[in-house]
Amino acid sequence: MGKRNIEIFDTTLRDGEQSPGATLTIDEKLKIAHQLAKLNIDTMEAGFPIASNDDFEAVKLIAENVDGPYICGLCRTVEKDIQKAWDAVKYSSKPCIHTFIATSDLHLKYKLKKTRDEALEMAKKGVKLAKSFTDRVEFSAEDASRTDKDYLCKIIQAVIDEGAVVVNIPDTVGYAQPNEFGDLIDYIKQNVENIDDAIISVHCHNDLGLAVVNSLEAVRRGAGQVEGTINGIGERAGNAALEEVIMNFKTRPDYFNCDTGINTKEIYSASKMVAGYTGIHVQRNKAIVGENAFAHEAGIHQHGVLSNPLCYEIMNPETIGKKTELVFGKHSGKHAIEDGLKKLNYKFSPGQLSKITQKIKDLADKQKTVLEEDIIAIADYELNKSSKKQTVVLEELSIISGNKITPTAVVKVNLNGTTKTSSAYGVGVLDASTKAIRNILGPDVKFKEYELKAITGGSDALADVSLTLMDKSKKKYNARAIDSDIVMASVKAVINGMNKIEREKNKKSD
Ligand SMILES: [Zn+2]
Repeated sequence: MGKRNIEIFDTTLRDGEQSPGATLTIDEKLKIAHQLAKLNIDTMEAGFPIASNDDFEAVKLIAENVDGPYICGLCRTVEKDIQKAWDAVKYSSKPCIHTFIATSDLHLKYKLKKTRDEALEMAKKGVKLAKSFTDRVEFSAEDASRTDKDYLCKIIQAVIDEGAVVVNIPDTVGYAQPNEFGDLIDYIKQNVENIDDAIISVHCHNDLGLAVVNSLEAVRRGAGQVEGTINGIGERAGNAALEEVIMNFKTRPDYFNCDTGINTKEIYSASKMVAGYTGIHVQRNKAIVGENAFAHEAGIHQHGVLSNPLCYEIMNPETIGKKTELVFGKHSGKHAIEDGLKKLNYKFSPGQLSKITQKIKDLADKQKTVLEEDIIAIADYELNKSSKKQTVVLEELSIISGNKITPTAVVKVNLNGTTKTSSAYGVGVLDASTKAIRNILGPDVKFKEYELKAITGGSDALADVSLTLMDKSKKKYNARAIDSDIVMASVKAVINGMNKIEREKNKKSD
């Protein structure tokens, strides 16, 4: 028997973006969307269009610009949600509407305050309406794993009758155990008469660390689609990490007898990009994409791998596109750099391009190899800087420091066209500068995490700063900047974060 094809449904831009602190700008979302298309996923859940104007615009922009996968918008089973989702995804040549309602008694009683019959009617009506817009309609029974099995089967049968072509069985709270979840898939297959007219999908959360395992077991029992995110980001402990799901199928065809249409060589780039933009870094020992996933430390292992990699490697790093070769050198011309940026989905004006080329050449002078991640860091920084949405612009920064001087900073910031100046002292220049910025922009903003990385070696290295700010409603914002000066990189990152907070404020007021 030939291998079964398993569809991959990526929700990095929806469930993933709901991770605490993972707010993405619209430009970042579009770039991730292009990368997901290169990965060749089957469906991309681009957002929840009714949630906010920004969400709507992002889904619409992706629908207009990204070809390949189904572009999907999430909506509750109510008319205005479904209409809004359609208004956003209709620009795609492959639009998809994903509508959901909670089905467990717990959710029905306390969240929706509806009876089972009322929810059943809402599900049918919602799917029917969605189906009037597009053929590709997915229905989700939220909290399915804690739903009465017979009621779940009844609602699935009803929505398939109304035209749902994908029925999703989420383990919304990450409660199910692998065998139990597999049994649920079996039960649905045995008790839903028209189940062959739809693809069974699963959406597992990782609260007990079982999201990937539960997804794999569901596939073994007949599920045809797996939902998840790059790096497993998502609500709380996250979703199933798609790169892990995909590589299980790829590495163990003898066990699963199935495959995906994924171009696995794009996995590593996708992982890097999502980590970079969301600020949620991947743990070093994470399966597949962690820094150490292919590193061999013990001498006996190194010896074995050198003799034959199969001794200790079940996959090779090239399969996921992990490469360390030179991308550009100091003799690379503008065209080569332009080509490279194009491959990474960047579009720049001639002015920006010459700035970036110069920065890359400067870097190539300092170090022998310029890697893809250096280029991404430089290009992203240029992109952020040119973003029209910057309402906060740093005009001037002066700092005084030394071993007998209290670190002091004077900053001049332009906020919506008005220049404001402030000064402050602190335990170090970074502390002083951020205090001065906060004096102007928001004394309530707290500094949460700070991470400094030297992109390249040496004391002249480019500094890459990632940090997290928290506003007074305790919402977290991550931001990043690079500069050859550590303090400047840090201050620029704070300014980027402040821009995100300002944007959120404006969002609330419109
Ligand atoms: Zn979820």
